Amino acid sequence: MPSSAESLANLPLRDDLLGLSPYGAPQVDVPILLNVNENTHGVPADVHAAIIEAVGKATLGLNRYPDREFAELRRNLAAYLGHGLSPDQVWAANGSNEVLQQVLQAFGGPGRTALGFPPTYSMYPLLSSGTGTRYLTAEREEDYAMTPEATARAVRASAANIVFLCSPNNPTGTALGLDVIEAAYQAGEAARAIIIVDEAYGEFAQEGTPSALTLLPGRPRLLVSRTMSKAFALAGARIGYLAAAPEVADALRLVRLPYHLSAITQATANAALTHARTLLSNVEAIKVQRDRIVAELQRLGLRPSPSDANFVFFSGLEDPHRIWEDLLAAGVLVRDVGIAGSLRVTAGTEEETTAFLTVLGSLLESQR
Ligand code: PMP
Repeated sequence: MPSSAESLANLPLRDDLLGLSPYGAPQVDVPILLNVNENTHGVPADVHAAIIEAVGKATLGLNRYPDREFAELRRNLAAYLGHGLSPDQVWAANGSNEVLQQVLQAFGGPGRTALGFPPTYSMYPLLSSGTGTRYLTAEREEDYAMTPEATARAVRASAANIVFLCSPNNPTGTALGLDVIEAAYQAGEAARAIIIVDEAYGEFAQEGTPSALTLLPGRPRLLVSRTMSKAFALAGARIGYLAAAPEVADALRLVRLPYHLSAITQATANAALTHARTLLSNVEAIKVQRDRIVAELQRLGLRPSPSDANFVFFSGLEDPHRIWEDLLAAGVLVRDVGIAGSLRVTAGTEEETTAFLTVLGSLLESQR
């Protein structure tokens, strides 16, 4: 529901929330939804059956509160992540958005600051303002890449308490080298900054792009967040998690709501993780479509950014909003992220990708 500044003016809203807009990716009912980087393949039949069975069992116990420490889920997530991680190094919440919010509640807050590198995930400033954390920004290179030197300079100059490194970055698809993350970590030593690497799209990385999970040993201020919303095709279930030193998980206990992960959520996640291999089987197919989009957009004379994610950011459009509208009129919803000349599209199934490329191709043709 849209909230107007006028109607909010009648409320005793916190001063620092006045004039802000809520997260608002449009939710419209069209045949081809390629706007919020979901996995468009759906849940495979055997995983569906396993989730139904697990949720059925959990339902019998709904008169009781769920396991507050979600021990089984932490075991399953640690096993899935590998890298020698133990369950006490894993934390989970209702989507990685909630994980990030808890990190801000525990390590940010009034009098503290968070640093982001726009264009980046639009929730970082909103989660910061929601927790009373001042959000600071630093620049990227021209191609949206980040270098160790410039990143370290920005972390040092800001003296931020929390640094958001999104890799691969939403909306540009840009992955960060481990040297950038190491440099940010070192530069954050003086302010004892929490360095959070948001790997929501980590499973879609190009061959040879390493995860920041490899850097966790010996770095107690490094946090790596992930989600089951993308590669695992479970956006509707709301399950996100992070890996870090055990003390970090302990700290997050101070701010989480009691029993924040429902028995239904835990049962769903555990059943899904037991079938991780099947659920993740579509990741390769999505990567093929992602690479196809990059190649085809180049052929159409546009400038797609290299992507390690399940989406492609592309520039070179004269009137992106008009293209967005015309695509929507043809039943294809993509994302206008408000960057000049650019749009972002999720890599869907082969059919969805074909539909997007065909409609876009003819729109561009008709403008020539
Ligand atoms: N981080 C990034 C970079 C994202 O793009 C998203 C979702 N769009 C999230 C975190 C949050 O996802 P979720 O809460 O569904 O885990």
